[in-house]
Amino acid sequence: MGLKNDEFYMEMAMKLACEAAAEGETPVGAVVVRNDGFIAGTGRNRREKGRNALYHAEVIAIDEACRTLGGWRLSGCTLYVTLEPCPMCAGAIINSRIDRVVFAACDSAAGAAGSLVNLFSLGCNHQPAVEQGLMKEESEALLKNFFSELRRKRKMQRIKLVEVQTEQQIEAVAALADEIWHEWFPSILSAEQIDYMVDKFQSVRAMTEQINSGYTYYILRKGDARIGYTAIRPDADGRLFLSKIYIKKEYRGNGYASEVFAFLKDYCREHGLSAIWLTVNKHNDNSIAVYKKSGFRIIGEDVTDIGNGYVMDDYFFQLDVDIDKGI
Ligand SMILES: [Zn+2]
Repeated sequence: MGLKNDEFYMEMAMKLACEAAAEGETPVGAVVVRNDGFIAGTGRNRREKGRNALYHAEVIAIDEACRTLGGWRLSGCTLYVTLEPCPMCAGAIINSRIDRVVFAACDSAAGAAGSLVNLFSLGCNHQPAVEQGLMKEESEALLKNFFSELRRKRKMQRIKLVEVQTEQQIEAVAALADEIWHEWFPSILSAEQIDYMVDKFQSVRAMTEQINSGYTYYILRKGDARIGYTAIRPDADGRLFLSKIYIKKEYRGNGYASEVFAFLKDYCREHGLSAIWLTVNKHNDNSIAVYKKSGFRIIGEDVTDIGNGYVMDDYFFQLDVDIDKGI
């Protein structure tokens, strides 16, 4: 294997960064190369898909290199990475005794090779040589495009939550409920029970009472279209009860529920609430899948008598909200 120059390996790291972007991950790629040109490890950021804070490109590349070379000591290796390493990755670089780090773009927010802090100059037991700026423009452009595309997508999808305050708005929710419940529940509940529940919980009269006793309803709007609704109630125990979230059939599968959850998390932070909880019918598999995917976990179950010989056989789900962090 012939020796290649730095550009060759940085281009390889850039290609990995592009692959990360294609998967919806912040585009960062890394390659560990031994000084004889042997590529010992490669990695791309996989934090979202892998659901793991450790899955940065550098850590993955170093992990692979250690396994490939059969030891933790990567002396004689160079790490090429498209973005300045963060403190975690700088720590991994120091601990793996990598000789040299070549990175492309600086990271003013979290860079630990000089931008925010310089962990390599603290006098640790190992100090790699660091070079920066190779293919900087390419990496910056890739990151910039990724984030502007992400913003564009979010903007395109963004729905509005309009608080229900007037009788007219309550009537609009009642109409949405009537339509959605009769479309959604037939596989789980009998037609009679659906009629009974729509009348008991989602009639204008019932919702007016709920609002007067502390519930807040929101209509979900996308442009001019009313696409669904949600209802919440802050509880005395410091949690937010998510009473209802229903989206019309033709609008499902677009991530709108996630947008509602994001809105509710912000609501919790603003109001000092520590968690969102809800009940869901044990046979409502599709909803359960959505809640699980969004990070909710089962905290209990119960059978509730709702009158007229009907019961609700539910799981209780909860999503903890980190109050301090805007994440
Ligand atoms: Zn990192």
